[in-house]
Amino acid sequence: MTSPLLSARDLGVDFGLPGGRTARAVDGVNLDVAPGEIVALAGESGCGKTTLARTLLGLERATRGSVSFGDEPLRYSTKALKAYRRKVQLILQDPTGALNPRHTIYDAVAEGLRIHGLVDDETERVADALARAGLRPAEKFFLSYPHELSGGQRQRAVIAGALVLDPSIIIADEPVASLDASVRGEILALLLRLREEMDLGALVITHDLGLAWSIADRIAIMYLGRIVEQGPVEQVLTEPRHPYTRALVSVLPDSPLPKPIVLSGELPDAAKIPGGCRFRPRCQEYASGRASAVSDQCEREDLEVLSADASRHRVACHLHRIERRAAA
Ligand code: SF4
Repeated sequence: MTSPLLSARDLGVDFGLPGGRTARAVDGVNLDVAPGEIVALAGESGCGKTTLARTLLGLERATRGSVSFGDEPLRYSTKALKAYRRKVQLILQDPTGALNPRHTIYDAVAEGLRIHGLVDDETERVADALARAGLRPAEKFFLSYPHELSGGQRQRAVIAGALVLDPSIIIADEPVASLDASVRGEILALLLRLREEMDLGALVITHDLGLAWSIADRIAIMYLGRIVEQGPVEQVLTEPRHPYTRALVSVLPDSPLPKPIVLSGELPDAAKIPGGCRFRPRCQEYASGRASAVSDQCEREDLEVLSADASRHRVACHLHRIERRAAA
């Protein structure tokens, strides 16, 4: 297995709230992304995915734990962050918002080069990035404005703006959520091609497990700031084991589970994480009594912090742990 390039260890991010309260947006996350590997990070809106991504990008500071790139811990000086952001690039969900409507596509793609002082061969680099992103012939798009492009072409231009700096990792936040179904497949195919051609690693944040299935090698399922299940995407989505993952998978069109599992209640506030297992108020196994052998633990002990072991299917659930022991 290739060594990870981007790593989070015991990562925690707190936000202070009025009244002295604290929201634990990310709470004990271990996660790796290796070169040429696509990792999907999935979960409901508000589960902490975007805060985790922003922390991996150095846009938020970790309250606890660390982020590292290769063997180097992420440093937060302006100079260190600037160098880091050449290697780890962000692709946003909405290409219209990501592109300045008054800038040509050439200028939009060249912006990163100019910020980093890479002014030699600018035209060749911009043309190469546009071509790699599938906008060919690249010169045809140089003087276009964002409104003259289709949604798919705009997202390709945003991707070109990331590629122009030759990153090692991209972090893509819902990269196709704003696109028509007809072009989603094209953008996903582009990400897969870039992985092959550039050995590009990617962390793809999504609430769409179908997207994760089509693109990712591994998946991490996040609930209320913590990863509750992770492993090879095929294993996690065909044999989901955590009650939360099972509920998410059960409502997919081709679900391997016999019937939909309806999650009760809303995702709790990150400033009011329930005691014991944080998923307990919504856990169908606990509510039905099927977890009675571990109900004490469910009430007293929070979910285990999973290690980042990339090769294994790992689950943070007391019931799963005793069932696995019984099966061994
Ligand atoms: Fe449900 Fe208990 Fe597992 Fe939490 S630890 S998900 S309450 S069975």
